[in-house]
Amino acid sequence: MNTRLITAALDAAERGWHVFPLRPRDKRPALHGETACTGTGDCAAGHRKWEQRATTAPDRIRKAWSAGAFNVGIATGPSGLVVVDLDPVKAKDPKGTPDGVTSLQALCERAGQTVPATYRTRTASGGHHLYFTAPDGVRLGNSAGKLGTHIDTRAHGGYVVAAGSTLPNGTYEVVDPTEPVPLPEWLYASLTPRQVSRGLTVTPAPVRASRYAAAALRAETAAVAGAGEGVRNWTLVRAARALGRFIPSGDLARHEVEQALNSAGLRAGLRENECRAAVTSALNWSIANNHGRPA
Ligand SMILES: [Zn+2]
Repeated sequence: MNTRLITAALDAAERGWHVFPLRPRDKRPALHGETACTGTGDCAAGHRKWEQRATTAPDRIRKAWSAGAFNVGIATGPSGLVVVDLDPVKAKDPKGTPDGVTSLQALCERAGQTVPATYRTRTASGGHHLYFTAPDGVRLGNSAGKLGTHIDTRAHGGYVVAAGSTLPNGTYEVVDPTEPVPLPEWLYASLTPRQVSRGLTVTPAPVRASRYAAAALRAETAAVAGAGEGVRNWTLVRAARALGRFIPSGDLARHEVEQALNSAGLRAGLRENECRAAVTSALNWSIANNHGRPA
């Protein structure tokens, strides 16, 4: 009765994916946590968590899965995978919230790309997992909502439930058995915003900014980054007009406002050229209309 799960684990391992047992009919790891560690066996030289204990070795897999009907976890980091996790809409979501599949479709359209064809599974809850091989020489972690509504990604520090595993609400199934293709460059770029912009968005610290101007910059960029599809253009223009008045007074530098807003606009899902055009014209408007007035 356990053959299906052993086979699922061995199949994944054969593809080079590092697997570990999850609790039966559950998606939590079956391996003990650090607080329950007895310091024996695999942990003789110190506790090793699931990411380190995940394996491709068939004998270890047969041994582990002979002990119970464990679901199969794939540790994405050691497997060299980046998995894009498209979640279904949840009951508590406001009406009109897109599901992950719809969000990815929109993201692809904005990038002028088609949805990549790659190894794909359908999750127990009706979501989708798209498997990609991770780019060389960089270490991607997990992300939540960074690419869009109901889109998460799993890489180092993360895992996914493999095809063949079963939860009370359904079974994980392969819907596209193709080998995973490399993570597209444009998706990688969306996951790794440029250093300079990210620094400004997280902790804007313009040299000459008054505390008030700095707080406004933080608030406006956060509003833009979090704006939904219907209002993000408008939010960006409003933010640029609000921040523009700090530029003639020297409290904020124009290039700093531009970088912070462009970066926030990209995070909200706008195209780069759309952001630049909107920010430039709104700042010009603001500076012309606020020149000489105290902020
Ligand atoms: Zn341990």
